[in-house]
Amino acid sequence: MNFLQRIFPLPLLLLIFFVQAVAMLINFDVYDTREIAIVLCWVPIFTLIHYYSQSKIVYYVLITLFFIEGLLTLIHWIILKGPLTASSLFVLLNTNLDEATDFVQLKFNYYYLMVLPYFGLFFYALKKQNTIIEQQPKNYLYATFLLLPIGFVTENYVNDRFVRKGVPQTIEAFISFAEEVKSYNKLKKRTVQQVDAKLNINHTKGNTFVLILGESANRNHLSVYGYSKETSPKLKKRSDIIIYDDVVSAYSVTFKSVLSMLTNSTIENNLNIDEAVSLIDVFHSAGFKTYWISNQSPIGVWDNAIYNLAQTSDQVVFVNKFGNSSFESTYLASFDEMIFEPLQTVLQDDKKNRFVVVHLMGSHSSYNKRYPSTFNKFNNHSSDKEQLINEYDNSILYNDYIVDSVFTMLNNAANKNQHQLFSSIYLSDHSENVYDENNHVGHDYAGTMPKSNVEIPFVLWVSEEFKQQELVYQTIVKNKNQPFVTDDLFHAIIDLNQIDYIGLNQKCSVFNTNYIPRKRVLEDGRDYDLN
Ligand SMILES: [Zn+2]
Repeated sequence: MNFLQRIFPLPLLLLIFFVQAVAMLINFDVYDTREIAIVLCWVPIFTLIHYYSQSKIVYYVLITLFFIEGLLTLIHWIILKGPLTASSLFVLLNTNLDEATDFVQLKFNYYYLMVLPYFGLFFYALKKQNTIIEQQPKNYLYATFLLLPIGFVTENYVNDRFVRKGVPQTIEAFISFAEEVKSYNKLKKRTVQQVDAKLNINHTKGNTFVLILGESANRNHLSVYGYSKETSPKLKKRSDIIIYDDVVSAYSVTFKSVLSMLTNSTIENNLNIDEAVSLIDVFHSAGFKTYWISNQSPIGVWDNAIYNLAQTSDQVVFVNKFGNSSFESTYLASFDEMIFEPLQTVLQDDKKNRFVVVHLMGSHSSYNKRYPSTFNKFNNHSSDKEQLINEYDNSILYNDYIVDSVFTMLNNAANKNQHQLFSSIYLSDHSENVYDENNHVGHDYAGTMPKSNVEIPFVLWVSEEFKQQELVYQTIVKNKNQPFVTDDLFHAIIDLNQIDYIGLNQKCSVFNTNYIPRKRVLEDGRDYDLN
């Protein structure tokens, strides 16, 4: 026991276990037990440095580093009831103090008092410097215990997941945050890139494609996917849509998910966004006019990445001008019907080939800000929880109206231009957990990602003229039950529009006869299909 204590000094262990214990106490559902193993693996490395330096200063610095890491983790758990992640850093750093106060609803809870004993443990650890240095262990003991972290770290590094699984969560969050900011800053200077892409030679008709990018829609809350409440009455009535029932988003945050859908960057190839080719590049190069119509806010750190990509389109319209930041806009109402007018204008444009992205506010929290009062259909509730579910379902109901209206607009345009092909995909950027799992609301996660974070609706609409391409249409209908991950959407959309592009991989296109479903390892590193 004594020799163990020399490798794992008690004051350091107290600092570590205190934070982990409070985290478990606050929300065990989202706590990842791996975290203890990861932190403990780092301890022998730090104590080794301390012993061999024989320096007080080194000890103080090391203890302080452990303390600061722990303090940030602790405060984050107390305020946000979950581990610190790159996404929560994006949210926190993107808001001013007023908004942050709103966001975390800084109500006093007794967990705040936990910070006091933690400071106590820190001072205790500082005082214990001398007693620890006297107990220098034998070298062979070190060799044994160093094998643990070395083995662990190497295993993670070899599997190319050092940052994801090899360092404590808080450190990981800061590293990924810094990496992403770097990549997005490069994206700011992005202009449309010319790539070697052209419309298939047999495909000379005009072509209009509209991608309807939804927000936080959980397909298990759509009646068209079997939900008990009638939340998608309009889509249910349509006979001209194809419903894909096994599509998941690769990520559970907007900017990552949307960027992976619109570029050739995937979880598997891990391509930097600023180096990736986008659908806007491909369609522009193939002679399409590109449009971006958005009801999301153009301002804000995390959406900036999407905005930077959006502005490489020929025509960009942002209809949501209410918020000073993307964060603020989540608390304000800007109904998605505001995209109808600019979309109608685009459809009247006499361009032969059009590529349009429509980015909706969808079911972004706060849910009750997403629909006009006429859509307040589900309003019988006896608890706050039921009320929130009702509000979410009302937003899904309104979304049904929006998506259906866009399909109808396209259908009308197709009837007026019968020699042209029209098609559209509606999907959500990610899903939303509305008490579906873990008694939790949102699309954040820790450890294992809940399925309700990624199970999204994916609906295809094509015009009558489009259906005349029999083989293409038959494949689309045939593949509707295939498993698919949205970071391959890039390939599927290029394929659907019959563009010859060297970067198109038919195996990745769910609309292709050569489609091969890949192993669905998602953002959390786990296989979605394994329970
Ligand atoms: Zn989102």
